[in-house]
Amino acid sequence: MKARAAVLREMQKSRPYGESRPLSIEEVTLDPPGRGEVLVRIRAAGLCHSDLSTINGNRPRPLPMVLGHEAAGEVVEVGEGVEDLEVGDHVVFSFAPNCGTCAFCLSGEAALCQPGAAANAAGHLLGGGMRLHHGEETVYHHIGVSGFAEYAVASRRSLTRIDPSLPFHIAALFGCAVLTGVGAVVHTGELKLGQSVLVVGLGGVGLAAVLGAIGGGARQVIAADIDADKLETAKAMGATHVINSGDEDAIEQVRAISGGGVDLATEFAGVAPALEFAFECTRRGGTTVTSGLPHPDVRLAISPTRMVAEQRTLKGSYLGGHVPSLDVPGYIALYQAGRLPVDRLLTHRITLEDINEGFERLAQGRAIRQVIDL
Ligand SMILES: [Zn+2]
Ligand SMILES: [Zn+2]
Repeated sequence: MKARAAVLREMQKSRPYGESRPLSIEEVTLDPPGRGEVLVRIRAAGLCHSDLSTINGNRPRPLPMVLGHEAAGEVVEVGEGVEDLEVGDHVVFSFAPNCGTCAFCLSGEAALCQPGAAANAAGHLLGGGMRLHHGEETVYHHIGVSGFAEYAVASRRSLTRIDPSLPFHIAALFGCAVLTGVGAVVHTGELKLGQSVLVVGLGGVGLAAVLGAIGGGARQVIAADIDADKLETAKAMGATHVINSGDEDAIEQVRAISGGGVDLATEFAGVAPALEFAFECTRRGGTTVTSGLPHPDVRLAISPTRMVAEQRTLKGSYLGGHVPSLDVPGYIALYQAGRLPVDRLLTHRITLEDINEGFERLAQGRAIRQVIDL
């Protein structure tokens, strides 16, 4: 079948993206779903900083590729062997497919699934399928999703069935922003009731972490960024304190507020100085969690001696350490009960044609979550 899709053919194009147009809207061809795969009509897809990192070359991927990894839609056709999804079901995509049988999946670490990671790196679906074409040319899948398109073929293992009463433009947010941000705090960071939490980098994922820290019972939620508007947003969303991390005495400010350093610092800015700042703001024995993804060549300047002598912990968190099919329905129920107001992350609803302008807005820091309605 044919579908309109946003295709990336060249990384590192100049800005503004509204002029260089790194994503071209093309008619691609989709093969029918293979064994274990599902054809989904995409109804909403969010613009995430990780898409931007592929556009600007920080996170290189094979090209040409249909980008987009935060999406929700409706099942149109199921391939052979898919017995637990039906036509008409509503689904949220996960950008880390989990095979269910590797050592990581069996030990509850689905985000680390080995075949899933290999498929994502290669730009094909779990199981090896490549279902996207443009004429004679094969087009790569973006981490098992390729959500910036009217339709997508995905592995069943990339999909979670959801409550059909949830609007698609809200549902999409659960695939990346909510899982990554909330999970970094409550899963990987193991937040305990009454702790102090610092969140560094207030994009969609960071602000989801602010919501997660509030929902998870932190006594203090200190939000830090270099952008004054984002600090205002964090305050409005319930952060107890905001800090401009560009201030010379920013570390001292956090220590003063938290009484010597936070229990848990989380970092989502994706640059080394932000992670170093987060680490310095923890108390002795404190934990730092990062979900930022800087360029693979970036290295940190952190003192191993302080890690040892002060028993500090530094942890990475991918997909918030979640098992999506378990955790997404739980977070959706919290949203529906008014306890995880993730709709507040949404600042723009746009069309597929406006995608380049949307990424320019994201690059300028003038948007939190923008969702394409499809
Ligand atoms: Zn993302
Ligand atoms: Zn696995």
